[in-house]
Amino acid sequence: MPQPHTESTSAPRYVEVALPLPIRRTFTYALPAGFADNVKIGSRLLVPFGRQFLTGYAVDVHETKPDGLSVEDSAIKDAEELIDEEPLVTEEILRLTKWTADYYAASWGEILKAALPAGINSATERIVSITEAGRSALLKTANFKPLKWQILRDIATLPERPQREIEREYSKSAVQRAVRDLNAGGLVRLRERAVTTKVKPKLRKSVRLAVAPDEAAAGAVNVGQSAVISALTHASGEILFSDLSEVAGVSASAINTLAKKGFVEVHIREVRRDPLFDTSLPAVKDITLNADQAGVLEQIESALKSPQYKAFLLHGVTGSGKTEVYIRAMTKTLDQGRTALMLVPEIALTPVFSKRLRAVFGDDVAILHSNLSPGERFDEWRRVYSGNARIVIGTRSAIFAPLRDIGLIIVDEEHDTSYRQQESPFYNARDAAVMRANLNGATVVLGTATPALETFQNAKTGKYQYLQLSNRIENRPLAKAELIDMRDVFKQAGKDVALSPQLIEAIEATHRRGEQSIILLNRRGYSTFVLCRSCGESLRCKNCDITLTYHRRDSRMVCHYCGHNVRVPQKCPFCSSEFLYFVGEGTEQLEEILVKKFPSLRIARIDRDTMARRGEMSRILTAFDNSEIDMLVGTQMLAKGHDFHNVTLVGVISVDIGLGLPDFRSAERTFQLLTQVAGRAGRGDLPGRVLIQTYYPEHYALKFACEQDFEGFFAEEIKFRKRLHYPPFVVLASILIKHADYSVADKNAQILRSALDRANTKRTCQVLGPASASIARLKNEFRLQILVKSLSRAELRECLDIAAEDAESKGADLRCIHIEIDPVNLL
Ligand code: ADP
Ligand code: ZN
Ligand code: ZN
Repeated sequence: MPQPHTESTSAPRYVEVALPLPIRRTFTYALPAGFADNVKIGSRLLVPFGRQFLTGYAVDVHETKPDGLSVEDSAIKDAEELIDEEPLVTEEILRLTKWTADYYAASWGEILKAALPAGINSATERIVSITEAGRSALLKTANFKPLKWQILRDIATLPERPQREIEREYSKSAVQRAVRDLNAGGLVRLRERAVTTKVKPKLRKSVRLAVAPDEAAAGAVNVGQSAVISALTHASGEILFSDLSEVAGVSASAINTLAKKGFVEVHIREVRRDPLFDTSLPAVKDITLNADQAGVLEQIESALKSPQYKAFLLHGVTGSGKTEVYIRAMTKTLDQGRTALMLVPEIALTPVFSKRLRAVFGDDVAILHSNLSPGERFDEWRRVYSGNARIVIGTRSAIFAPLRDIGLIIVDEEHDTSYRQQESPFYNARDAAVMRANLNGATVVLGTATPALETFQNAKTGKYQYLQLSNRIENRPLAKAELIDMRDVFKQAGKDVALSPQLIEAIEATHRRGEQSIILLNRRGYSTFVLCRSCGESLRCKNCDITLTYHRRDSRMVCHYCGHNVRVPQKCPFCSSEFLYFVGEGTEQLEEILVKKFPSLRIARIDRDTMARRGEMSRILTAFDNSEIDMLVGTQMLAKGHDFHNVTLVGVISVDIGLGLPDFRSAERTFQLLTQVAGRAGRGDLPGRVLIQTYYPEHYALKFACEQDFEGFFAEEIKFRKRLHYPPFVVLASILIKHADYSVADKNAQILRSALDRANTKRTCQVLGPASASIARLKNEFRLQILVKSLSRAELRECLDIAAEDAESKGADLRCIHIEIDPVNLL
């Protein structure tokens, strides 16, 4: 029942709540007197929504009913519970998430949810308690079915009980039915309650010296006790209980005896779950910056001195020493009493790099990425929130880390598409980084060897200041890249082969010299698809318009888009022929081919499949770095960021797939990938060589990549973008309309299309579609696409907002309409 809100107090009476739903607006709730005083902006609240309860975020409070809210007072529902006394969302993050939501036409609540570590988003549970009517009914037991009577009797002695507990004791569905009936009869009362966080601080027993080491040593009466005291003395006074008994080789009783005598103290303390598996750290190299690096750093430092916003593009070829510049700039930022954030595309791939930062900054660094356990993420996040870690290194969502007074944001490999979240809420962490710097008067550095076209354009127009490192450290030459025309190889061999004679020869030569190689293929699995030779059908996913990939290790056919998988059929499911033909090598098969061809080499594979085992990736990369592995085979994961000094050969098996995609960015993607891959070779004292196998040797993206000529590529590509009206010359929005029922998707698309035409009165937008998306069916949903282009971001946003509202009023269901601004993939 809503409570009356008549008495006038100074406490806020209404709260504006952002909910984690794909809905752009916020919702107004009334605040019960019980916690109205304690609600702060940024606190989480449990609120009723429809028939369920949701965790939302307080984004504003009002003393009076907000203007424009037309509902009656009594129709405004009460917030149910205040979850945080201290808000988890800082004021700055609130502003940043609001900006992000508006910029991407995304839901604020969804962005806020993404900004907090997953483990602390709380759930709700239903509480059952008995009413007076229930008590009196209980006396007349004969009127009840046994289960209902049982439940009433169970809760009669308790003030309340979670329904889930009752469900565990009896059959779940029967309990649900019984509770529903009891509630309908007024015999029980139901209430929702927020369940406290699933992830909690990790607590351990710990032992410390209670007196001076000498005094303790004198008090030890036997070998075991002496060992305990000596271990504690060496560890500067404190060790975890379990570790201590192991280190000192004693039982728990020896420690407890010492505690009873007052020489040591046993207490409970929180231990940090450390994301670094192996905590041995590399030595910090004493590096003197070269003149180019020093020049770049000077520019960045002078920006850091000023409290003004400033953005740089640091365009530095691979191996030019960008990372060293980042480290110096972060050190400077800390010296100035501010904090620093560094985004990387996929940190799990670079354990070597995380360790390098840890070696320099110690516990001041927090690591936030998607491969952390919930506990690790929770601990790291809290270290940032409390100010104990002043540097954050992390992937996409780390852009929302609660650092206070941020002075520097670095986005390494700024062109990387993993900064773009590919599902709701859509946002690009690189652009949010620029905005966060802007909101805080901070410096932002976008670093890369292959700037995104948009970024380079921004540097050209002066929006970003352009900094360049055009030479590798110690003037090491960039690896030479050569194209191998696979059409010639095909002619000579008379059939398709995975490895050209040139590549085989290069591999042999490299390993004869005791050097290492990396072989890249952008397709995982064993065979890319299975074809029937009799009827020509290929095996497709039942949920998607996609062929299934054969994975030999699990002997299954897997859909790489939805995960659906089936056993490998013996016969063609269409014509029952037994002539099934496995086409196209993936990394799993490539590894097998290489192992057969080069039996003496130690070969390991890295792709999403091998990475599924936790810690495996880190182990392999470290072993490769230590030369315990000769060759790495894998997907593009291998192309990013690694700094291996003994790698002198990089082979690319096939790059033609990237060029065939119907996406205006595919040339750019291919150019970036090849430049990055080539950058892995020749990073030490030895020169590197890169061999690229292709069926399209004339393509300009390949030619410029071979010469590592970014300017040349940019000049060519920008012409094409201009001619065909693509970013950066226009702002693009891709709208996907998805539904399991084609006619529903189609109806929504048509309604939206006419709404867009009505909203586009000034004709400042160009609307294309609806048409089938490149993947017409995915995860059991049909997909239609509408593209909207405009010269003005503001006009585009306005047109979309008006159209969405209009479409909703004409019966469109906004839940199946997904708007993506600045999309990176047009699949
Ligand atoms: P990038 O990030 O541009 O690819 P890195 O920062 O990883 O390049 O530098 C490449 C290698 O050169 C690293 O091993 C790094 O330790 C080393 N290095 C960087 N700067 C210097 C320098 N001024 N003198 C000597 N070695 C350096
Ligand atoms: Zn067949
Ligand atoms: Zn599928």
